[in-house]
Amino acid sequence: MAHVVAEPCVGCKFTDCVEVCPTNCFYETADRVVINPDECIDCTSCVPVCPVAAIFAEGDLPDQWKSYIASNRDLMAGATQITVKKEALGKGTPKCQPK
Ligand code: SF4
Ligand code: SF4
Repeated sequence: MAHVVAEPCVGCKFTDCVEVCPTNCFYETADRVVINPDECIDCTSCVPVCPVAAIFAEGDLPDQWKSYIASNRDLMAGATQITVKKEALGKGTPKCQPK
């Protein structure tokens, strides 16, 4: 099992999550972050800090976002490790309003 970043992150990419992960298993692509499923220890620290509630334990993912389990793993190939918060990609856009 691992935690998974789902659709609410896409285009928003607040990056609060990357600073609380004890195993530094967040990686970024141009429009989102993903979690390396081989490095996540399911500590849950990242879940409450995501402003748009994008992170779920694999078993808790809503049905419409189940495909993100595979896409998190697939996107790892071209992703870069991120450990320091940066300005949100979607700051101020309607989709990225904090929940
Ligand atoms: S805090 Fe949430 S929106 Fe921000 S990068 Fe992490 S998963 Fe994406
Ligand atoms: S659950 Fe813990 S180990 Fe997994 S990505 Fe979130 S902070 Fe990192």
